Amino acid sequence: MTSLLPRVLLGAVAASALLAGTAFAQDYPTQPITVIVPFSAGGPTDTVARLVAQAMSADLGQQVLIQNVGGAGGTLGAGQAAAAANDGYTLLLHHIGMSTAPSLYADLPFDSIDDFEPIGLITTVPMTIVARADFEPETLEELIPYIQENGEAVIYGNAGIGAASQLCGLLLQEALGAKMTEVPYQGTGPAMTDLLGGQIDMMCDQTTNTTNQILAGEIKAYAVTTPERVESLPDIPTAIESGLDLDVGIWHGLYAPAGTDQAIIDRLSESLQLALADETVASRFAELGTAPAPAEDATPAALAETLASQIELWRGVFESAGVAAQ
Ligand code: ASP
Repeated sequence: MTSLLPRVLLGAVAASALLAGTAFAQDYPTQPITVIVPFSAGGPTDTVARLVAQAMSADLGQQVLIQNVGGAGGTLGAGQAAAAANDGYTLLLHHIGMSTAPSLYADLPFDSIDDFEPIGLITTVPMTIVARADFEPETLEELIPYIQENGEAVIYGNAGIGAASQLCGLLLQEALGAKMTEVPYQGTGPAMTDLLGGQIDMMCDQTTNTTNQILAGEIKAYAVTTPERVESLPDIPTAIESGLDLDVGIWHGLYAPAGTDQAIIDRLSESLQLALADETVASRFAELGTAPAPAEDATPAALAETLASQIELWRGVFESAGVAAQ
């Protein structure tokens, strides 16, 4: 009997805490939500995030604000999100880098799986191999021997180790057996500015950052990295068509810090699904060469599964390429 009392009391305390949590989750959100984008403003991840955030704001009745925390291939921003309060008011919108970083960084300040609650997949974006407008090679067939002959004289911009642009460059260099000079930026927004200005020669980046410049003739596009051509860029061949076995799409997901109330995660996932069904989001995505994830993929389970399988996939790719964590 004596030992039952504290247990009953503890049970009552736990139950009231649970009820308070549920009431909190039911009211959620009562203040603006910050989404950390781990790359610079104006880049492709930022563009996706701002479109989705605007539609989610309308559904949630609270502002969904973007905070750009660029650096170290997206790991600085992801680390900041992992350390944030798990109250549903700080989220992370990141891409494939969540799955590449665990193999590429010896001292990663977060665990992609243990430190986050997945909310849902957002979109998978094709990449484009692009160059400054006056770069000598005209086609991918010309670009391949050019890189092989000129190697480190070719200046390739990327968003740091583990970023999509670095990953694409790595696969390209592996395939060509050549090494270019890589210049890391905090995101490919500023890298695009330098490509337009001719300070760097090349980049491989998401269509969400290259479509407008390609269509305006401001940069050269050699190939898309998807097995099929991209509808908004019908004249750009696939890398595979031009004899380069490069097939990579950049998936993006939304996360909350680990321990966030399940009711909040469910509310955010529902809001994400609504945002992805929004006509403005869908048409803007289409103009930029991508499409919203279907509702069944904008779920915690689908993102959890993608993340886990992609971590394994990239670990294998890096191991066989002999790429060690730094
Ligand atoms: N496209 C960048 C990358 O290479 C990231 C960004 O600026 O959104 O990962």
